[in-house]
Amino acid sequence: MSAHDGQAPYSGTLYIISAPSGEGKTSLVKALVGDIDDILVSVSHTTRPRRPGEVDGVNYNFVDPATFERMVQDDVFLEHAQVFDNFYGTSREWVEQQLREGIDVILEIDWQGAQQVRPKMPGCVGVFILPPSR
Ligand code: 5GP
Repeated sequence: MSAHDGQAPYSGTLYIISAPSGEGKTSLVKALVGDIDDILVSVSHTTRPRRPGEVDGVNYNFVDPATFERMVQDDVFLEHAQVFDNFYGTSREWVEQQLREGIDVILEIDWQGAQQVRPKMPGCVGVFILPPSR
């Protein structure tokens, strides 16, 4: 059975956290996960320019559009999407490796990515964050 069909017996749990943009998921996730060592947040690849204070390999893996496109062609991503003017993608191999090792993984991705991941990873848990005003 291949890991790609989503039936692989992973021992870790995959959580997908989505929110309307600007709802502060990143700080929420950091506060929740803190120093727990058997939960990791996936570091996405993006073509978005680095913002002040962001660190390559920590906040994102920053890549140029040609590199991103090559990664799409090579089927590197579990999911990928365009958000505003930039592309974002989640490394399939990294996520599957953690889950196989029993480490829970959090994806902080937009709704397009969540839609792609859900059918591929049947055991995943979706968390949608809404602001109190709604
Ligand atoms: P930002 O550029 O402000 O960090 O993120 C913009 C949006 O892209 C956010 O909604 C964020 O959740 C989403 N995003 C970040 N990484 C990924 C990813 O790997 N895949 C998808 N589909 N969306 C992502």
